[in-house]
Amino acid sequence: MKTTLQSLEGSRQNLFIDGQFVAPKNGKYIPSYDPTTGKPWYEFAQGDQDDVEAAVKAANQAFRNPAWRRMTQTDRGRLLRRLSQLIADHADSLAEIETRDNGKLIKEMRAQMAALPDTYDYFAGMADKLQGETIPVNKLDMLNYNTREPLGVVGMITPWNSPLMLLTGTLAPCLAIGNTVVIKPSEHATASTLALAELIVEAGFPAGVVNVVTGTGASAGEALTRHSDIAKYVFTGSTDTGRRIAGNAAQNLVPCSMELGGKSPHVVFADVEIENAVNGIVSGVFAAAGQTCVAGSRCFVEASVYDRFVEALVERTRHIQIGHPMNAETDIGPLALADQLSKVEHYVSSGVSEGATVAVGGKRPWAHEQSGGWYFEPTVMTDASNNMAFMRDEIFGPVVGVMPFRSEEEMITLANDTRYGLASGIWTQNIDRALRFANQVDAGTVWINTYRSSSFMSANGGFKQSGYGRRGGFEVMREFSRLKNIIIDY
Ligand code: NAD
Repeated sequence: MKTTLQSLEGSRQNLFIDGQFVAPKNGKYIPSYDPTTGKPWYEFAQGDQDDVEAAVKAANQAFRNPAWRRMTQTDRGRLLRRLSQLIADHADSLAEIETRDNGKLIKEMRAQMAALPDTYDYFAGMADKLQGETIPVNKLDMLNYNTREPLGVVGMITPWNSPLMLLTGTLAPCLAIGNTVVIKPSEHATASTLALAELIVEAGFPAGVVNVVTGTGASAGEALTRHSDIAKYVFTGSTDTGRRIAGNAAQNLVPCSMELGGKSPHVVFADVEIENAVNGIVSGVFAAAGQTCVAGSRCFVEASVYDRFVEALVERTRHIQIGHPMNAETDIGPLALADQLSKVEHYVSSGVSEGATVAVGGKRPWAHEQSGGWYFEPTVMTDASNNMAFMRDEIFGPVVGVMPFRSEEEMITLANDTRYGLASGIWTQNIDRALRFANQVDAGTVWINTYRSSSFMSANGGFKQSGYGRRGGFEVMREFSRLKNIIIDY
């Protein structure tokens, strides 16, 4: 991989189509901004309909190319393992590129990159595990069986918050099955996906199996989601964009897998070690400056320990280190986008005007004044209620609202009082109560006495307006393959 932080600085990045890096047909490039300074640091291609057309054509040809279509499952697994090794070899560079692009902490990006090879290896091992079945038929001398085959060209649209990690959970199984893909990465963090394309060439994937069309959602994204030659879309991003993409896809009756936003409940019972739960709440909501889809942004605390809990949470939040994401001692870096900073400020002030209280945080810190970066203090809001806008909408910033509850029944009603259903967490020593919560909460993931732990070996996804479809585990192999029924009279 030739791309490094140094080579990216001030560069122009092209599209990746049919195994080649090519200029956009319209000749247009747009800047990517460094969130720690608010200044542009490289440019990437503003792909549009013509480029999407070329990428989908290349992916369709690659799908039919015997070099890919007739490659044995074992060989596809081998290719994925080669890619996995290359990612491991370049993990540090990929982590630096993502941190510079989206402002997330270098230590978190290093941890994410270190986990990617395991995910590719896991799905490399799945390439030869996808099996069909034989089925009885109500007639003699007939063989009736189902096979599983790849879908075709999969369109993948990714967000900026963890570009490669979020891509991997669907790219690895898609390739293991034998699909081809066109990826549209976020215009706010494009570089790591293009760097991955270099590794895909190095690993030896046939040209056109993976294509990357960069650009804005309105340009490259719309063109991709309106295309009629796509077999399935995988979208990870906000619920509003998901709704729009599902509408576009419906015009061609193309199925989607939607990984959308959340407003996850995080519940604390009086029987836990308060410090323990506070640490869980802090890392559950303030990690990545609150820019995680699973952020536990609504915190419900048993009334008997509410005051003590809030005091401890405020104290702990006061000690969170805000700073440059490349520094090892930083706990919270900048937000990724200027718009994101304004959005967070808007929700904090709307919360106050609706009657909530800022217990700690609530403004831009010194780091913002010094650098012009898009920093915001980690913020705890009390006197909150579920009907306030900041408790209803996904903020995608470092803001948590805290509310007391008096009974288990009230707690579950409060927790489920949201249009989202992505994740949830509970802190209690009472296993019966924890399991009752797990059974009743409307969320695709339930964490008990932990938060944000995850495994690529299990299928994850949302309920309600947090989406549909699953990423990870064997389940995803079924989602990205199709069943064919074959009957033989002999
Ligand atoms: P976004 O919806 O603004 O953008 C996501 C992607 O969609 C980008 O690549 C963007 O260019 C593209 N896009 C935008 N408009 C489009 C259109 N009209 N047609 C086609 N593509 C279009 O989301 P974001 O701000 O990049 O990411 C943050 C959001 O992603 C949050 O809501 C977060 O919860 C969600 N998210 C969900 C998960 C999950 O697994 N559920 C994971 C990470 C992020």
